[in-house]
Amino acid sequence: MDESVLYWWLVATLFGLAVITFLALLFVTAPYGRHVRAGWGPRIPSRLGWVIMESPAVVVFVAIFALGDHRAERVPLLLLGLWLFHYVHRAFVFPFRMRVDGKSMPALVALLAIGFNLLNAYVNARWISHFGDYPDAWIADPRLWAGSSLFFVGWMINVKADTMLIELRKPGETGYKIPRGWLYEHVVNPNYLGELLEWIGWAIATWSLGGLGFALYTFANLAPRAVSNLKWYREKFGDDFPPERRAIIPFVW
Ligand code: NDP
Repeated sequence: MDESVLYWWLVATLFGLAVITFLALLFVTAPYGRHVRAGWGPRIPSRLGWVIMESPAVVVFVAIFALGDHRAERVPLLLLGLWLFHYVHRAFVFPFRMRVDGKSMPALVALLAIGFNLLNAYVNARWISHFGDYPDAWIADPRLWAGSSLFFVGWMINVKADTMLIELRKPGETGYKIPRGWLYEHVVNPNYLGELLEWIGWAIATWSLGGLGFALYTFANLAPRAVSNLKWYREKFGDDFPPERRAIIPFVW
């Protein structure tokens, strides 16, 4: 099969996975973090799990990017920088900031995430460095600037929100508390909201179907989990939990 045909099949797979993931997560909450539970096979340490499941989004993405015909052009390199700005932190910094000593996750969760990250890395890296066309004039295109700006706003929200959660625990603690202040007064997962804004920004900056597929997948993955988290907070903290808080979109959902 010609690679360009395969490419569009894989983009279609990304969209299909978004739909399947959204429907599946409405019924089954992914068993990691606060939702970890027995019955999902052998476990690995959480920190290790995060590094191995997110590192393909750095290593494989760079390798595929480096094979593209446009790998040395200015705009593809700029987009590579945007992607790595998020994923170097996610794969190699965030796991070492989390306070999850002694916690574990099913190896299956890590395996499924690796599979997704391989597909997503191929679809997005191959587009920006090979199949897509980003002449130098794209640098002046409002889509690049609006998308990149949204990406950075999302990144700042994501990292600030994760940092606030991390700081709820003293080193060595593993329990849960009610987060207070800032966007936490409105939603239980501003970190997911920030992540979603980042990938919507990426879709706009790259103006690509692969980018749109990833943004949709992020919504499909994180919105149902935020709903499960809201339910979990209400059950765990009862009347102490502020009733007006939503799941992921302030005042809406
Ligand atoms: P969570 O908000 O569930 O947890 C983030 C960290 O904070 C974990 O270490 C967690 O510990 C800790 N934590 C959470 N709530 C509390 C609390 N109430 N009290 C004390 N500590 C708390 O996020 P996820 O683990 O689901 O995701 C982590 C990051 O990865 C996020 O930035 C998210 O956006 C991103 N992500 C992106 C995905 C995508 O599709 N693009 C998919 C999944 C995640 P513990 O692990 O012990 O629960």
